[in-house]
Amino acid sequence: MSAAAALPARRPSFRRRLWSVRHARFLETLYAGFERCLIAAAPLMRAIGYDRLERPVAWTERKIKGALFDCQMCGDCVLSSTGMSCPMNCPKGLRNGPCGGVRMDGNCEIRPSMPCVWVKAYEGSRMMRHGERIATRLPPVDHRLKGRSSWLAVVRRASEAETGA
Ligand code: SF4
Repeated sequence: MSAAAALPARRPSFRRRLWSVRHARFLETLYAGFERCLIAAAPLMRAIGYDRLERPVAWTERKIKGALFDCQMCGDCVLSSTGMSCPMNCPKGLRNGPCGGVRMDGNCEIRPSMPCVWVKAYEGSRMMRHGERIATRLPPVDHRLKGRSSWLAVVRRASEAETGA
């Protein structure tokens, strides 16, 4: 059976994830512009209060990244290092994959109908301007950040680096 024929049997979210990987370069460029806007808005966000913004920004992030990447809101986004394939969708939860169980067809050992998150991550990274980041060792998930906005965390970090506040 061809890969195209197998596609309808997959969950629709797989298709969204595959679209994001196929458009990794476009999404990388889009995010770079978005991040610049976020950081430019840091003084305003600081004035409003990060704590006050947490819920609405996290809600928005969940909606947008959930639709594009099946985002699980880990709170520390690494998509820029993983070819726009969210590693939190790996059934083994690997942040520095792949495991040794990838099937011959490139699918997951645990969920045979699902393309391996890390195979896709590598494919996506080959299209990105900074695809070499996939070789960078990622820190483990910090479960205290679960559900929090990683966008806001980026703004906070940039703001702290600039002003120390
Ligand atoms: S790495 Fe974390 S924040 Fe980024 S898409 Fe995956 S779950 Fe969401």
